[in-house]
Amino acid sequence: MKDVIQDMERYAEANNVPIIERDSIIFIDKYIKLNGVKKVLEIGTAIGYSAILMACASKDVEITTIERDEKRYKEALKNIRACEMDKRIDVVFDDALDVNLAGYKYDLIFIDAAKGQNIKFFEKFKNYLNEGGIIITDNVNFHGLVKNPERIESKNVRQLVDKIIEYREYLSDNDEYVTKFYDIGDGLAISFKKNDEKAKSID
Ligand code: SAH
Ligand code: MG
Repeated sequence: MKDVIQDMERYAEANNVPIIERDSIIFIDKYIKLNGVKKVLEIGTAIGYSAILMACASKDVEITTIERDEKRYKEALKNIRACEMDKRIDVVFDDALDVNLAGYKYDLIFIDAAKGQNIKFFEKFKNYLNEGGIIITDNVNFHGLVKNPERIESKNVRQLVDKIIEYREYLSDNDEYVTKFYDIGDGLAISFKKNDEKAKSID
């Protein structure tokens, strides 16, 4: 198990797969344990790294995770099997914006896919949030470039950072959801429904 995780970290490094940072996993792990999270939905599996680590937080956790890239999807399946977690982690090979999860509700939704599409993901998947649940979005600082845009060198990155800034504003101005931003890892946004009595403390 430990070996598989180390191998995944090496694979991610060698193949430029942007896996979650350790501090972010520590935060999510704690949240899962403290709040008895059972059902998790992840948008953006990559090679299964964050899904496996979230599943490690508790034996009660069941994860549905969506990945549209075939090579990564296959790599994720391989890693999840190697950790014997295939009964608890279901990987869906599709574009998250095309997936139909009718009827399912989740305690934790982790948005970690194409950074330019975060508003679309949020708008779609908020409908799958259980009462008392939260939506966590990763990479809302984007390597510090959100706060230091003068460091941006390419036009593509500038456009991406603009999208992330737009998403942060969308969350801050949202009438339905409250969002707190944390400088943990690459930046986490934690959103929960306003007036949701069950939404537990996250600090
Ligand atoms: N959560 C992973 C990292 C995900 S990287 C971890 O921390 O270990 C982001 C992944 O999202 C990429 O593999 C990319 O292929 C996938 N992705 C991007 N947009 C997507 C979409 N619309 N639907 C499904 N997957 C998407
Ligand atoms: Mg990420």
